Amino acid sequence: MKITFLGTGTSSGVPYIGCKCAVCSSTDPRDKRLRCSSLLEVDGVKILIDCGPDFRQQALANGLTHIDAVLLTHEHVDHMMGIDDLRPFRNVDVYANDLTVKALLRVYAYCFNNDYPGIPSLSLHEIDEQPFLVKGIEVTPITAFHYCLPVMGFRIGNFGYLTDVKFISDDELAKLKGLDLFVIDALRHKKHLSHPSVEEALAIVEKIKPKQTYFVHMSHDFGLHEEQEALLPANVHVAYDGLSLSF
Ligand SMILES: [Zn+2]
Ligand SMILES: [Zn+2]
Ligand SMILES: [Zn+2]
Repeated sequence: MKITFLGTGTSSGVPYIGCKCAVCSSTDPRDKRLRCSSLLEVDGVKILIDCGPDFRQQALANGLTHIDAVLLTHEHVDHMMGIDDLRPFRNVDVYANDLTVKALLRVYAYCFNNDYPGIPSLSLHEIDEQPFLVKGIEVTPITAFHYCLPVMGFRIGNFGYLTDVKFISDDELAKLKGLDLFVIDALRHKKHLSHPSVEEALAIVEKIKPKQTYFVHMSHDFGLHEEQEALLPANVHVAYDGLSLSF
């Protein structure tokens, strides 16, 4: 299995427009964070997790030529507003929960049940808490809450991905035990209404004890990549845009 972090920033991206803070002014490329998205490759199947407004730039930067499926965590703009840029990829299966399906049909109605030439070639699949197959690969959905909004996380083999998750039950966390690689959002150190702080993300890590964890969805308030990486436990890391890991 291989993951490529296409984007690791919060909804505004980093740098934040107009900001002159140390992170936004940093010359370390790891402090430049596009909106949050990852590409997972499993047995030759390419699965995109979220498709935000930076997707076009991410696809070009990483030379993407094929995508089999997109898993959407939730309907927020930073996770969904790249759907129109899926046009070069044909026959893409899109998986989302009921609320995200409603949002997709509201914003991207022209992409579905329409044979107008050149529009994205998508098949929409509404998912619930039941496991489902993507080209023969089993995906187990994880339900969590982003303040009040239900969001979907995913487990595929020994890989788990959770973003924009403020609350999660112990029953759902139990589905994430025994992971080799776990990805979770960690917005910043200060608490936030709808995202976990670094400390809250570490508490989730401590409960499920994955072999390796990578943080995503950081804001400029998170701090400099190099300094923050050094503060974390040895098996917890700060992801950065373009990082690829085989596991
Ligand atoms: Zn987000
Ligand atoms: Zn800043
Ligand atoms: Zn969100």
